[in-house]
Amino acid sequence: MNVIVVGAQWGDEGKGKVVDLYSAKADYIVRYQGGNNAGHTLVVNGKKTVLHLIPSGILHPGKTCLIANGVVFDPEVFFEEIESLVQSEAFRDHSGNPTQPHHVVRVSERAHVILPYHRTLDQLRENHASKLSGAGGKIGTTGRGIGPAYEDKVARRGIQVIDLLRPDVLRAKLKRTLEEKNVLMKHHFDAPLLELEPLFELCLRLGERLRPYVADVRGVLVHALQHKKPILFEGAQGTLLDVDHGTYPFVTSSNTVAGGALTGSGVGPGVPVQVIGITKAYTTRVGTGPFPTELEHVDPELAQKIRKIGAEFGATTGRPRRTGWLDLVALKYAVEVNGITGLALTKADVLQNFDHIKVCTSYRLAGNTLYELPSSGEDLEKVEPAYEVLPGWGSYNPREIHSPADLPQELRDYMRFIEDFLHVPIVLMSTGPGREETLVISDPFQAS
Ligand code: GDP
Repeated sequence: MNVIVVGAQWGDEGKGKVVDLYSAKADYIVRYQGGNNAGHTLVVNGKKTVLHLIPSGILHPGKTCLIANGVVFDPEVFFEEIESLVQSEAFRDHSGNPTQPHHVVRVSERAHVILPYHRTLDQLRENHASKLSGAGGKIGTTGRGIGPAYEDKVARRGIQVIDLLRPDVLRAKLKRTLEEKNVLMKHHFDAPLLELEPLFELCLRLGERLRPYVADVRGVLVHALQHKKPILFEGAQGTLLDVDHGTYPFVTSSNTVAGGALTGSGVGPGVPVQVIGITKAYTTRVGTGPFPTELEHVDPELAQKIRKIGAEFGATTGRPRRTGWLDLVALKYAVEVNGITGLALTKADVLQNFDHIKVCTSYRLAGNTLYELPSSGEDLEKVEPAYEVLPGWGSYNPREIHSPADLPQELRDYMRFIEDFLHVPIVLMSTGPGREETLVISDPFQAS
């Protein structure tokens, strides 16, 4: 069986831990969308490594890590990550001898490349947008060039990994794209013009260095499927940030939903797969955009309490995340849009010793009750959440939890409430932040 892991909310659900655990069970670990705007912190032998691009399966010896066509790929970030990993355990064989990273990492020939001008444009655009307001305002991008690289891909002026290995093609494509970019630089942003030659030279150098890693990733996956090797598709960001199905325009530039694993890697829809949606026991959102169960304006003290206990601050920027109760209307939508077959519930420990826990089960809008997420972002901004109030679960010690029966009854009732509402089982429960504080209820790789 193969597994797709997706964030079922607005990202930051705790995918890293689940992906790390599932990586041990898979032979191939695939990133299929997004770019280096994802982030997993891994600690190996006391040394902290933050990975933004390379699948976290890299720290499990003997696994093949693939960056597939749906990813926008920044070669400079890739080499930085490789450099930091070379020092770690990741590139040691069974006898502890150093191995070559390109034995275990492959990048799709078809992936689109993030180049310096994408980063420049991202930052210029965000600065420009911050001067505007409303729907035209700041999206809150990470400034890493991901949006502009996806724009170029869709506009058919992107540079693909394969182009970096073909000087003639590369030069012609760069020339064409710079002509257009420079109109923007000059007339829209009043910024310095982009020069072809230094960029061309940089691309050639990056291409040569990248050559041993480049592969037909789709072909590698087809081979793996033919030999029934388990594959883990590692999603980044979250469902409600999907460019088609999220809270547009406050979304990311790629398809974060499970379907993105197919288009983003080139495997067909017949592939045997379980889809695991990761959700916190509450909800968070970074940056602007609608968030029905947000507590900030209703009970700022409680919002702050959840933020503080849950350490809900951006990993790289330290930006506080917005916090709120679990939203089952939004989660039901995530179940449907991803075809989620199992849920992983994280961070229930954050809500310990709360008197009661609220769960949103419908919305009110202009006198009507809604059981579905409205399509209009403006409507979603206006809905009032309707809650069920459940009893709190006191406290538990994650170290003493070895089976679901060890969890407080009220927490088990909470889990049951979620399962019954969504008609999806919770297959994994993260009982605390530690790697070992995880309860595997059933193993999706063994599903029949
Ligand atoms: P991602 O963006 O979905 O990949 O989120 P991360 O994997 O980076 O997780 C965000 C943070 O939540 C990390 O610091 C994790 O250690 C932490 N975390 C994950 N699961 C739990 C949990 O069950 N309880 C608590 N308290 N923290 C958790």
